[in-house]
Amino acid sequence: MVSEMQNSEHSELSNFLKVVNKIESAFRENRELVSIILKKIMEYSKKLEEAYGKEFKFKIMNFCGTHEWTVTHFGIRSLVPKNIELVAGPGCPVCVTPSYFIEEAIKLALDGFTIYTYGDTYRLRTVNSVRGYNSLSDVRSDGDVKIVTSFAEAIADARRSGRESVFIGIGFETVAPGYASAIIRGIVPENLKIMSLVKLTPPAMFYTLEILREKPTEPPVMGVIAPGHVSTITGAKAWAVVSENYGIPVVISGFEPIDVLLSILEILKQLVKGEAKTVIEYKRAVTWHGDVRAQRIVAKAFRVVDDAWRGIGFLPESGLRLREEYRKIDAFAEIGVEDLKPDKWVYDLPPGCRCAEVTLGKAKPTDCPLFMRICTPSKPYGPCMVSLEGACAIWARFGSGGLADEIAKDLGLQ
Ligand code: SF4
Repeated sequence: MVSEMQNSEHSELSNFLKVVNKIESAFRENRELVSIILKKIMEYSKKLEEAYGKEFKFKIMNFCGTHEWTVTHFGIRSLVPKNIELVAGPGCPVCVTPSYFIEEAIKLALDGFTIYTYGDTYRLRTVNSVRGYNSLSDVRSDGDVKIVTSFAEAIADARRSGRESVFIGIGFETVAPGYASAIIRGIVPENLKIMSLVKLTPPAMFYTLEILREKPTEPPVMGVIAPGHVSTITGAKAWAVVSENYGIPVVISGFEPIDVLLSILEILKQLVKGEAKTVIEYKRAVTWHGDVRAQRIVAKAFRVVDDAWRGIGFLPESGLRLREEYRKIDAFAEIGVEDLKPDKWVYDLPPGCRCAEVTLGKAKPTDCPLFMRICTPSKPYGPCMVSLEGACAIWARFGSGGLADEIAKDLGLQ
């Protein structure tokens, strides 16, 4: 009986995955659709040029690292007209995790704790040396540092070993329900503590828009491509305040090239019509209210705090820490790791690194004089070169040029 049920669940899941794959490949491979969307984009861009003048750049920010990956990997910058500028945003959790917490994790590893970390955090360099070490990968020979792919893996390993351990819990809203579910179900053993470094994305978007607004010399952000995966949890409603307060269009977008092109098209269309709405392009995964159950679980396990973003500083209500009732598994409450406070925060990028400007859409990776000279994917110097979601790492791997440039030339776009 159980096996029949399992078989039927398995076949339902595999049918579901087949449908998802079909939809995803339609969004990746439909050239005819690409050509129609591009023509529409060109039409709207022309109208905007007539209204704003030839020199005006329409800056569109793709908040999240995965969108930056799609934009760069598929050469979308080469395909859009010259008056559209696509800039990366702060949506890479590894890039914005303060150096302080990695330094604290190194100290814990040297003091005998097992540290569980994701692979990219493992390579993240600190600004200050801790007893001669500058990353968790450096300390591996003298401490117990284990790379895991999930919190569940850390839980299973800590149970097995029984050793005093700490999990470095970085990420955005997408990972929080998984952490929260394990916490409230009581399956985290007491020998495993969590250093919760989860960050909330809309506050970073507000800050980015504020700071760009304060610098009238730079072109303003005229539209936002908001993160699809985060929005599966938060719902599109979390971004509505951006369009309401800043008067610009926001599109919650999927991650295939056609998703991004459709999102650009929607932003241009709204700009031409003088509208500023939050709309969902990624309807196959995102709803207006999001995953309400996941939101409840997260609220049960975590409290919202003002949090520090690397190179940027403290942003109001932008992070999650464990609630008091879970202090027994909270690294900040139980094992003497002090949380970072605004009066203790110091600028934490290495000399010459322009990562904060890159994540705030004020500079391109290639504006940094260290890009691909001192700082490379195999030897990252700054945090934006570490993770696959970091703008510098993406530009270093895929750059521009290639086939996308050739297609753009054929279309008369370059
Ligand atoms: Fe920082 Fe390296 Fe990017 Fe320069 S290339 S901004 S040093 S991460």
